[in-house]
Amino acid sequence: MQERDLISWNSMMVSYVQDAKSLDALEILAEMISTGKEVNYITFTCALAACSNPKFLIEGKILHALIVVSGLFEWPIVGNALVTMYAKAGMMTEAERVLQTMSRHEVVTWNALIGGHVENGQTDEAMKAFQLMRKEGISADYITITSVLGACVTPNDLRKYGTPIHAHIVLTGFESDKYVQNSLITMYGKCADLASSKYIFDRLAHKNSISWNACLAGNSNHGHGEEVLKLIVTMRSDGVELDQFSFSEGLAATAKLAMLEEGQQLHGLAVKLGFEADSFVANAAMDMYGKCGEMDDVLRILSPPVNRSRLSWNILISAFARHGYFQEARETFDEMLKMGITPDHVTFVSLLSACNHGGLVDEGLAYYFSMSKDFGILPGIEHCVCIIDLLGRSGRLDQAETFIAQMPVPPNDLIWRSLLAASKLHGNLDLGRKAAERLLELDPSDDSAYVLYSNVCATTGRWEDVENVRKQMGSNNIKKQPACSWVKLKNRVSSFGIGDRTHPETKEIYTKLGELKKMIKEAGYVPDTSYALQDTDEEQKEHNLWNHSERLALAFGLINTPQGTTIRIFKNLRVCCDCHSVYKFVSEITRRKIILRDPYRFHHFSRGKCSCCDYW
Ligand code: ZN
Ligand code: ZN
Repeated sequence: MQERDLISWNSMMVSYVQDAKSLDALEILAEMISTGKEVNYITFTCALAACSNPKFLIEGKILHALIVVSGLFEWPIVGNALVTMYAKAGMMTEAERVLQTMSRHEVVTWNALIGGHVENGQTDEAMKAFQLMRKEGISADYITITSVLGACVTPNDLRKYGTPIHAHIVLTGFESDKYVQNSLITMYGKCADLASSKYIFDRLAHKNSISWNACLAGNSNHGHGEEVLKLIVTMRSDGVELDQFSFSEGLAATAKLAMLEEGQQLHGLAVKLGFEADSFVANAAMDMYGKCGEMDDVLRILSPPVNRSRLSWNILISAFARHGYFQEARETFDEMLKMGITPDHVTFVSLLSACNHGGLVDEGLAYYFSMSKDFGILPGIEHCVCIIDLLGRSGRLDQAETFIAQMPVPPNDLIWRSLLAASKLHGNLDLGRKAAERLLELDPSDDSAYVLYSNVCATTGRWEDVENVRKQMGSNNIKKQPACSWVKLKNRVSSFGIGDRTHPETKEIYTKLGELKKMIKEAGYVPDTSYALQDTDEEQKEHNLWNHSERLALAFGLINTPQGTTIRIFKNLRVCCDCHSVYKFVSEITRRKIILRDPYRFHHFSRGKCSCCDYW
């Protein structure tokens, strides 16, 4: 083998590190050491960079020892690389220890330490390091400032740190730095102070796409989807080019609002501008189609298995789960494992909700236990909610209670709400009362606790208790969140409340409802009045059911769309059992496909059946 001098050995390592081939870079170092080649501070800096992947932490620690022995530690660049390596592996105590033993601290070393804390979500520690740095008389640069701004992610962080840092920025003249400006927009956006975020954004002399994206992300994260779409329109009219981040924020907004047409337009534009193959855009588009009920489009734009990231797999599993295709969700999970992709906690939330929608109790429990046993993922509250839902719906109420007592995380409102709903479903008044009490302890103003509890009393025929709950709600000034359903036709949204008679087509709607009622009764529909909240006679209960918002929306949809087309309806609360049954009958007698989206899932009605198989 020909002799190579130090420079060419080092440059070979650099190129391996740049290509993320850590193992190859470390093999070069091993070869250099074992053949007695000369090494210098650059060799070690490269090797440390190769170890910044947490997988190579042991190698990194060996390097650390070698560096101390070789005396190369005094090179600030080596110390900096060590701090960075430990910070990236999340070993902040080691990173700090390295920093303490170094004689000279440069801003770049502090930046590595602060950046490490921020990446590991350690806001307080990042700020402590920032204060220490200033105490040592080291001036921050724009990287330090953008790092510490990035550490502020909650309204509390903003009060404690963000506002003082903003003052520091003004005093030190960093206000005119465009990176700092964009980080300020992002910080205020993350900390839910959208007004301040917008204020800074509006006053920027030169808005680049990063500034626009920072503004988009702030609005998107706080559920202001309509604002996101408005910003995108302004962005385009101002001549700013949309990039993959703008498209993915825009698509996420249309997904949350279930605005299929706008989502399609945005996706079309992204394709036209050459972002079709971009993974951000493709994943956001898949998620949008999934959430808008277009499973065919999800599969159409899905990349081949070898090219799928974990995020793409997760979106696919979640889309199947949402649509009630639990078999497909499970198969997709198996395929994902076969392709060597490790699942994360999101994968399991989707899997468990797929089992939940399908009523697959044992499969769900098996996934829950396999999660920590086989994949080392600790169950979070979302997973526990899925299990309680699953056990509760299938009537295993004792098991659900035991599960809550043994859960690795404290039960939250969703757990008690789910148990309460299960008590209602299975007519268990005692358990319902217990769950309602826990729920109201957590949030005394929670209207759904009262509503669900009075439902439990109603289904078990305890009308006196229903009346008591109603009185209590009145005295606490709590009102049930009103049900609302809506249909979107040609960019116009028509929404309906219970017994709504304000729509211009009210007369036609109620006539249509009368016709539907007659037709489906002939086809065998029997109203289920067991969920009525008042102890009135059966006829009145049935009449009340025909005032439900989802029925008004259905009648309106049928009147205003051509035969053969799919009707899409949205509801703000869970669809009621009887309306679900009406939708099935209507899909059969009118030969129409109906897609209903409530906050929990999609229901695809076709030829008298629903994709949820009546389990939701
Ligand atoms: Zn209903
Ligand atoms: Zn259904």
